[in-house]
Amino acid sequence: MKKNIAIAGAGLVGSLLAIYLLRRGYHVTIFERRADMRRNPVGAGRSINLALSNRGLHALAEVGLSDDLRAVAIPMHGRMVHDRQGNTNLQPYGKQGQFINSISRSNLNIVLMNKAEAMGAVFHFEQRVTHIDTERSAITTASPENHLATYHFDGIVGADGAFSAVRLGLQLTDRFDFSQTYLSHGYKELHIPAAAGGQFAFERNALHIWPRESFMMIALPNPGGSFTGTLFFPFEGKNSFASLTTDHAIRSFLEETFPDVVKLMPEVLRDFNHNPTGSLVTVQCFPWARHNTLLIGDAAHAIVPFYGQGMNAGFEDCSVLNKLLQHHHDHWDAAIRDFQQQRKPDTDAIAQLALDNFIEMRDLVADEKFVLRKKIEARIHELYPDKWIPLYSMVTFHETIRYADALHTGRKQKEIMDDILAQPDIAATWQSLNFEQLANRLHRP
Ligand code: FAD
Repeated sequence: MKKNIAIAGAGLVGSLLAIYLLRRGYHVTIFERRADMRRNPVGAGRSINLALSNRGLHALAEVGLSDDLRAVAIPMHGRMVHDRQGNTNLQPYGKQGQFINSISRSNLNIVLMNKAEAMGAVFHFEQRVTHIDTERSAITTASPENHLATYHFDGIVGADGAFSAVRLGLQLTDRFDFSQTYLSHGYKELHIPAAAGGQFAFERNALHIWPRESFMMIALPNPGGSFTGTLFFPFEGKNSFASLTTDHAIRSFLEETFPDVVKLMPEVLRDFNHNPTGSLVTVQCFPWARHNTLLIGDAAHAIVPFYGQGMNAGFEDCSVLNKLLQHHHDHWDAAIRDFQQQRKPDTDAIAQLALDNFIEMRDLVADEKFVLRKKIEARIHELYPDKWIPLYSMVTFHETIRYADALHTGRKQKEIMDDILAQPDIAATWQSLNFEQLANRLHRP
């Protein structure tokens, strides 16, 4: 008999997981704290758009959704780096034809919820999970009027995000490891409107970056010609959210620091003053499974957004769990235990890679040596594509390479490239390097 599964959270991962489970014949009930976003549009707050890449697309393809979503996404072929003078430089993400996709968070969520509902998922909106009893597989929810209800299921999945109530329940059990680490930077979304006639003010098919060493702004394109900018900025210190206290200080700082874009943002002051300042957290915990309860997505492994992989990793979770349910003939407890063992090294790896990439984005992309490093790596990859795949490509474009393997290989590549870049005059001589020898060095035992 197919199982009754409860999912806490109808976000991106909970909604996709519902579709996977429904396809396997499970009965799925979803409890979501918020009102139904299809009827109550969600306000500004957490990223309006996201970068969807191969791992996420692969999972969406498995449930037959990738073509529909590709059609509404905007391809971004590289990073467009903006310096303080407004000069720009496009750094391709990979080979010709490789790109990431800017997609609206709410549209994506709505597509997933609609599909899950059409397949038979039962949604309970404005029902906040307050308590979990893993031994009895019971979930307690509260309505906005604080009416409590308790339900029993065969399995419970906590897909309720970085501040998961299901995880909080597990934290109260014995030998549950948990760590939560905040960055000293927060983020704020700033709108960049379309130019006259709905045109894009900057190159449409790129992720724009204004690297400023200790902080940065990025912008992703939206259909209709606008961009959503996100300022990643220290909470405290000389240039920080805390130090910009007057309208005059905010405006002059932004105009001086990002002159080419701020002049296109008539509402920048209003956005800065009114949009919330988000914090950036890495959450690691273990075990993810207790009795028949499982954590998935951000609830199990929230990461900082600098590799554009949080959602992609959560979607990959759904695909991996589905394969394990298949492998274990739908024995839920065996599959969720196998899942946490297989997946934990990979999500730890992407957590580390995402932290490392903040430094790359805000500082290194503007550095000549870094640009040269990328050029040399791209050349080795072009000549020996099976032997050397740059780290960014392994993570973003190669869903068959596990995150943990990408991290490991990336470290070896860095050692080799550090040696090369230490050679005198390398900027002038790099074309005559022995690329085959470099590619082979990566595979030396
Ligand atoms: P969430 O999206 O957080 O969904 C959790 C759901 O659970 C929500 O609907 C919430 O309302 C609900 N919920 C919470 N508590 C309860 C409760 N007690 N009871 C019932 N329901 C509850 N990832 C990428 O792959 N690419 C990107 O470009 C990218 N950019 C990002 C930019 C920023 C600024 C941030 C902060 C994150 C970004 N991410 C990105 C990460 C991505 O947003 C997350 O990894 C993703 O949203 C995780 O999905 P989830 O469903 O696990 O959690």
